[in-house]
Amino acid sequence: MNHLKSMTMSEIGAVLKELGQPAFRAKQIFSWLHKGVRTYEEMTNLPKSLRDTLAEQYPINAPEVVRKQESQKDGTIKYLWRLSDGNCVETVLMRYHYGNTVCISTEVGCRMGCAFCASTLGGLVRPLEPFEMLDQVLFTQLDSGLPVSHIVLMGIGEPLDNLSNVLRFLELVNSPDGMNISMRHISLSTCGLVPKIDELAEEQLQISLAISLHGPNNAIRSRIMPVNKAYPIEELIPACRRYYEKTSRRIHFEYAMIRDLNDNPAQAKELLALLKGLPAHVNLIPLNHVEESPLKPSTKAAVAAFQKILEDGGVTATVRRTLGSDIDASCGQLRRKYNRESDTADQQRK
Ligand code: SAH
Repeated sequence: MNHLKSMTMSEIGAVLKELGQPAFRAKQIFSWLHKGVRTYEEMTNLPKSLRDTLAEQYPINAPEVVRKQESQKDGTIKYLWRLSDGNCVETVLMRYHYGNTVCISTEVGCRMGCAFCASTLGGLVRPLEPFEMLDQVLFTQLDSGLPVSHIVLMGIGEPLDNLSNVLRFLELVNSPDGMNISMRHISLSTCGLVPKIDELAEEQLQISLAISLHGPNNAIRSRIMPVNKAYPIEELIPACRRYYEKTSRRIHFEYAMIRDLNDNPAQAKELLALLKGLPAHVNLIPLNHVEESPLKPSTKAAVAAFQKILEDGGVTATVRRTLGSDIDASCGQLRRKYNRESDTADQQRK
C-alpha cells in the first residue's frame, strides 16, 4: 500500500502527474496531510473530482486514541494509539522547560530482547511506516493542543532496525512545509547496531545519537542486552567515535541504573575509562521497574555516588528525571498492560 503521507512532496508530485494534475497541488496536499486531516473532504482547495480519486486510490490512515493517561504530578501525557491494522503503539508527551517533547515508537514490539525492557516481551510484530511515526507527533500535538518542539525516538522499537523508514520520517517531520521540527531537536536512541550506526553517520544529520549502554563491560552488557553478543563494546565504542568524526555531534550514553548489577563505584570507574577521550554525555536513568522482570532500580545514594565519580572524572552525567511514573510512562508498559487486559477479556468471552 502506498501512503501519500509517507511520500515527499516531489513523490506526491509524481503521483499527481500520473493523474494529469498540475504540480502545485503537491504542496497543497502535503500541507494538508501534515496538518493531520483525516479525510480528503477537508482539503477544501482541491477540486471535488481529485478529492474523490485520491480517496479511492490513496486512503488516508490516522490512528485512534485507545487510552490517554495524564500524570497528575508533572503533566506528562501518554497515548496508546490503535493503528489501521489493529496494532497498538505508545507515544509520550513530556513537558520540559525548553519545550514539549514527544517520545515516539518506531516499531510494533521489538526483537532486541533487552532484559529490563517491557517493549520487547512479545517480540517484534512489524516495523512502523514513516507516516505512522509522523502521525504520533501530529496527533499528539492536535489532541493535546500543545505545540511539539522536540522529538525523541525512544519509545517502543529499535529505530536502527527500521532505518530506512526512520530516515524518511526524519525528512518528513523536518520539512518546512510540514511540522518543520529542527534536526537538532531530535534524538535517536539505539541499543547499538554497529553497521546501522555507520549508515546513519553517512547521512550527516544534526540529530543527537543516544546509545543504550547500560554496562561498562561485555560481561555485564551481554547479560542484559543480547545485542552485545553481536556487537560487543570494542566494536560499539569505535563506531561512536566514527559517528562523532562524521557529524561532530557529541554522543549521549544512556545507562539504566540496576541495583547490584551495574551500579557500584568500580563500575563507574570502568565506564569512565571506557568513555575517555570521546565527547560524551552520560544519562543515568533510574531503572523503571517492569513487572515481569526481577531487576530492581538502584538506590538514590548509589545513583548519586555513580554520578559523582563520572563528573569528577570529567564526563558530564545527568540523572534523568522520571516523568509520568504514575501512568506507566516507560517504554512499552501501557501497550503491554492493554494487550494483557484484552487477552484476559478474550479468554473470558471464550
Ligand atoms: N531501542 C532503542 C530505543 C528505545 S528504548 C534503544 O534501545 O535505545 C529507550 C531507552 O529506554 C533505552 O535506553 C532503553 O534501554 C531504556 N529502557 C528500556 N526499558 C527501561 C526500563 N525499564 N528502565 C529504564 N530504562 C529503560
